[in-house]
Amino acid sequence: MLTTRPRGTNDILPGEVEKWRYLEDHMRRICREYGYSEIRTPIFEHTELFLRGVGDTTDIVEKEMYTFIDRGNRSITLRPENTASVVRAYLEDKLYALPQPVKLFYIGPMFRYDRPQAGRFRQFHQFGVEVFGSHDPAVDAEVMAMSMDLYRRLGLSNLELHVNSVGCPQCRPGLIKKLQEYFRPHLNDLCKNCRDRFEKNPLRILDCKETRCGDIGVDAPTTVDCLCTGCSSHFAEVKKNLELMDIAYHEDRRLVRGLDYYTHTAFEIVAPDIGAQSSVGGGGRYNGLVEICGGPSIPGIGFALGMERIILAMQRQGLTFGAAGGTEVFIVTANQAAAGEAVRLLFKIRSAAISADKDYMDRSLKAQMKYAGKTGVGYAVIIGEDEMKQGTALVRNMGLGRQESVPLDEVVSFLKEQGLGK
Ligand SMILES: [Zn+2]
Ligand SMILES: [Zn+2]
Repeated sequence: MLTTRPRGTNDILPGEVEKWRYLEDHMRRICREYGYSEIRTPIFEHTELFLRGVGDTTDIVEKEMYTFIDRGNRSITLRPENTASVVRAYLEDKLYALPQPVKLFYIGPMFRYDRPQAGRFRQFHQFGVEVFGSHDPAVDAEVMAMSMDLYRRLGLSNLELHVNSVGCPQCRPGLIKKLQEYFRPHLNDLCKNCRDRFEKNPLRILDCKETRCGDIGVDAPTTVDCLCTGCSSHFAEVKKNLELMDIAYHEDRRLVRGLDYYTHTAFEIVAPDIGAQSSVGGGGRYNGLVEICGGPSIPGIGFALGMERIILAMQRQGLTFGAAGGTEVFIVTANQAAAGEAVRLLFKIRSAAISADKDYMDRSLKAQMKYAGKTGVGYAVIIGEDEMKQGTALVRNMGLGRQESVPLDEVVSFLKEQGLGK
């Protein structure tokens, strides 16, 4: 073998790919029902988009981006997430000129140079939604409702929706000041990350996973203590809308996002039974992001989930991924004379939108039947020597073990009567 696939990437093989299709089908369907349209942006962008749009103090930008200089001497980055790209497209393609709000969704691969671990890869896949143009707290609630509805449809249970408000540029400076006053005497006891965050991004100290930082921060002021009137009434409306839809939530005052362009709502969906890294999706409002990316002041809110983590969570909960997508019909032939008939009939069956296959390995009739059984087809169409003489085929229902003689010309309509080809 010449080489292997790069660390942190996966081949999604037949047998596995059906799970992905199952997820994607659910995602596309729910987006249609909630009024979201699909957008597909490039896999790579100019690096400065992510420096600004993700934030150059984030771990993603500091440590995890796949960045390279292309042959035209431009700095290019494989997208580490998709919100910045969608914002760029919203501006570049003038989607702000459409009736607002503009509601978009995406599904695709993202790239981060991270240490691979369970459910985390260097090429991973995200589903996400973005809504532009509305300040309405009902939109925040709708995005959360849709994500919870998606998980419910997939059969995931024991999920918790954690909600918080992270304030706005008006009230956040007050919070930052209070946090720095609170943590300053403990600065030397915080972990290295938090010591770095103290100046740049003190909100993030609140959601540090290190026990000592959690212990020190137990009485720290939280976002909710410092919200301005506008922020607290927005938050109250978000919660009211969730209650209107009977969606359970936990108010989580430690749920923060450090960057200035995140405003108001932050949320995360947690699956306690997938272990320490239990988040299966999250999002929030980013009213400052469009402006940071060079546009006018337009509000936005989004949500994203990692597909690999959802599959992992579903497997841990013992869920299935819908019916297997194998072929429905297998044509079994006795000899060379019947082989020509098999080619003709196979084409006719497939043309009627029924999935079908035949032997290509010169197997005996018995071996073909065994193979058909192994692949799990619903029906075998058997053309033996007698059938060739009579111009018929034996159509065998593999599940019931019953078979019937059918004229060759009527095999397609017979299969349709059995409910195939819909
Ligand atoms: Zn505020
Ligand atoms: Zn820490």
